[in-house]
Parts: sequence; C-alpha cells; structure tokens
Amino acid sequence: MSGPLADRVAIVTGASRGIGRAAARRLAASGAAVVAAARGDHADAVAGEIRAAGGRSVAVSADVTDPRRVDAMVRTALDEYGRVDVLVNNAGIVRDRLALRMSPADWDAVVATNLTAAFNCARAVLRPMIRQRGGRIINVGSVVGRMGNPGQANYAASKAGLEGFSRALAREVASRGITVNVVAPGMIDTDMTAALTEPAQAAMLAQIPLGRLGTTEEVAGAIGFLASDEAAYVTGHVLAVNGGMYM
Ligand code: NAP
Repeated sequence: MSGPLADRVAIVTGASRGIGRAAARRLAASGAAVVAAARGDHADAVAGEIRAAGGRSVAVSADVTDPRRVDAMVRTALDEYGRVDVLVNNAGIVRDRLALRMSPADWDAVVATNLTAAFNCARAVLRPMIRQRGGRIINVGSVVGRMGNPGQANYAASKAGLEGFSRALAREVASRGITVNVVAPGMIDTDMTAALTEPAQAAMLAQIPLGRLGTTEEVAGAIGFLASDEAAYVTGHVLAVNGGMYM
C-alpha cells in the first residue's frame, strides 16, 4: 500500500481491540506493514481486516509480559518484513481497587503489563532500530499517570513510570535517530471505559471540557503523527489526547 509510511514496518501490541486495533488500522492505511500482537489468536481478525483492505499485516500471539514471546514477536517482524521501524507499546490492563484493599498480585499484574512489558518490547526492538539508524517508539500512557485517580494507584504508577522511562530512553537513543514519545489518552470509548460504572463514567465526563469521550481513531491519529516523518524532531514528549481533561 502506498502512503507516508510505505516502506515502514510497525509492531502494535494489544492490537486486538480498542486503541491498539485503531492504531494498527491507521498505520496500515498509511502504508506500513503491521505486526499485530495480542494474546492467543485475538489479533488474527485485525490482521485479516488489514490484508482484506489491501494492506500488509501478520498477527502474532504474544503475551507481552513474557520476554520470550516478545522476542518471538520481533523476530516475526524481521522474518516477515526484514525490519522494524515503529513500536507501539499499547497493551494495557486495569485492576482497580482502593490502595488499602489492593492485593500485591493486582499491583504486580498492572505494573508488569503496562510498564515492564513496554521495557521488554523496547529492548527487543532497539538492536534492529540501531542497525537501521532510526526508529519510533510510541508508548501509550494515560491522563491518569499525570492526574492520579482514586482506585487506580497501580495503573497511575505504571503510566507515570512509562513517562519517566520514555524520557530516559529518548535521551539514550536520540543519537541513533530513534525517537521515544508517549501518547496519553484521556477517557476513550473502549472496552476499558465501558467497564466503568455509570456514576464513575458520569464523574469522568464532568471533568472533560470537550464534553465527550474520545474515539480510538483520535488516539490513533496522534500515534500516526508520531510515527510519521513530520514528527522527526519530536522526542521525549507526552502528547495528551484528552479533550482538555488535564492541561
Ligand atoms: P482494551 O480495549 O481493554 O484493550 C487492551 C488491549 O491490550 C487488548 O488488545 C489486549 O489484548 C491487550 N493486552 C492486555 N494484556 C496483554 C498482555 N499481557 N499481552 C498482550 N496484550 C495484552 O484497552 P484500550 O482502552 O484500547 O487501551 C489501550 C491502551 O490505552 C492501554 O495501555 C490503556 O491503558 C491506554 N488507555 C486507555 C484509555 C481509555 O480510556 N480506554 C485511556 C487512557 C489510556 P488481548 O486480546 O490479548 O486481551
């Protein structure tokens, strides 16, 4: 497929649903070959959809908390398409509970998926990106990493951690032509927010100046921008896509 990302290869984690699925479709529509990763066979559908639309995509079964599966995911990109230009660390979970009642297991699961896995995936693409003398690492954070939210101490810590990680890595790899940025969505209409209770949703909506939830396509647009040549001079940045919820 032609487009601004025509010769590029992108890996998107958590591509089976929500923001990751929209990002995979958006990058493919810009011409990138997309390695769509999720657990089990969950990413098969989006990869099939991209191919049916004339794009290039392969699905990979990868639990991002397992470094061996992450290495296999990157190997698939290299075997299938010969390079890796873009990594979108999007896979994420919530396990909400007030800190007083939060189990260590719920803390660990969220930090492992949202933060440690992003490190695992970034680490696995750095060698090929350094060899290629360029690359884009885009981490999906959250407005909650900046504002905090009761019941989400684990989630807020993981997303704030992702920002610090991104800034440190951005400084480490800038000389190799690799940029590292964060897209920090606010409240987006996905399975994750559908799981919130109605009062919790109403309370969130009341805090959004633009007065509505964001769409997955709006977040994918920001990811597409950071993956594009137009964003070549942007690194270590947190791009909020939150309807003004936090400024
Ligand atoms: P979602 O609809 O719940 O989808 C989560 C995705 O993550 C799924 O594709 C899921 O794949 C994948 N995933 C979860 N654990 C995984 C693991 N261990 N290994 C591989 N994949 C895994 O979530 P979403 O709302 O699109 O959120 C995507 C990202 O945006 C997350 O990082 C989230 O924190 C962030 N975010 C979302 C919002 C929002 O309002 N929705 C706001 C701010 C930030 P499976 O098919 O394997 O389950």
